[in-house]
Amino acid sequence: MAPMDGRTDLSAGQSDGHFPDFSTFAATSGCTRDGNAREGYCENSHIGTVSSLESIKRLSGCFSMPNKYGLPRDIPDPVKRQIRQRSKFGCVICRAGIYEYEHIDPEYGDAESHDPDRICCLCTACHAKVTRGHFSKDYVRKKYKEVESSNKLDVPPPFDDLDFHDGKAELKIGGISYDPGVANVVTYHGNAIFSICPSSGSDTAGINAVFLDDEGDQTLRISDNIWYGALDAWDTEVIGRRIKVRKKKGALALVLRLEPPGKIVIEKLDMRVSDAHILASERSYAVGRYINNSKVNWFHANIVHMGAPLPGASAIEFLTYFEAEWRDQKWNGRGKRLATADGMIAMQTGLGVAHKPMGVVVGANCLKFGMASFACGLLELKAMRRVVFRQPDRVAEFIGKGAR
Ligand SMILES: [Zn+2]
Repeated sequence: MAPMDGRTDLSAGQSDGHFPDFSTFAATSGCTRDGNAREGYCENSHIGTVSSLESIKRLSGCFSMPNKYGLPRDIPDPVKRQIRQRSKFGCVICRAGIYEYEHIDPEYGDAESHDPDRICCLCTACHAKVTRGHFSKDYVRKKYKEVESSNKLDVPPPFDDLDFHDGKAELKIGGISYDPGVANVVTYHGNAIFSICPSSGSDTAGINAVFLDDEGDQTLRISDNIWYGALDAWDTEVIGRRIKVRKKKGALALVLRLEPPGKIVIEKLDMRVSDAHILASERSYAVGRYINNSKVNWFHANIVHMGAPLPGASAIEFLTYFEAEWRDQKWNGRGKRLATADGMIAMQTGLGVAHKPMGVVVGANCLKFGMASFACGLLELKAMRRVVFRQPDRVAEFIGKGAR
């Protein structure tokens, strides 16, 4: 059904009982980011056809028509951020991490502005209780004030469930591929920072992790298959299946993508753990040990796959020079071994790939691993960050050039 003079021919559509393809209707109705700003836009995909005028009316809610005061439905991003910050990144009543921005009083239909004093984060369940009259607006206002003015000890962090129902668990980091038996993804001096456990017996599968930012402050944690945001984060935002934590405007400290059931992909990680640093994008990574606050020794081993894990196997392990040396001696002679002339970097069945002076082992306690390349070098954090996040395929090459 072709639009006539730039408009959809609704009457023609009615006559044969079929309206035009809804996408055509959308394209001619200002339902676009490029349309009149007062019309707002719709991010829903428009599929199929609409078969009655009633359906058009029902669906027209997604065209973000302004209310009677001309106020568009969409709240500007900076105002949304203020509301998130003031609601401490969760439903102000039950603290659920998945929520909507709700005009409390007046409701959107009667609102003349998107005033952050009068809009808070509410989950759909709590919102339904308000609209059905089970919760009063006074109660919501009181909870909003309480959450906003409370310190971290008085208000629970935002949280939500993760789906590990089918017994599998996988945490994808830096393009590293490993067997499900590699239970420790990142270990720092014996403490598992990220760990995964597929189900065994009556234990359910899951991931435990503590994510930090580039100054070592917590951004998010996962514990017993529930994620918890950090109350003092600058911003935590859930968009679709992604959870994004920002340290400040434009500075993402963490981006997780949920791929249920059982899989979480780290799309961006910029994390300092004491004297160690991990930069990881979905496709690559670099691990570092600090020389001083700006110079860092970096290491990257392009591990194709690590398998046949022994108990205590780790994808990335930070330890001391002496521990790495001890491990090398323990495994030496028990399988294939390759090492640099000075013996400081060694690859060995069971050992993994060890950079002994840096106290880093990749693929520790795995009897099998395939490695394409490795590189190490002294570089500034800022420069390394640029490569890992913008040119993930050139991490090894870049670290190699910086080596001296
Ligand atoms: Zn709620």
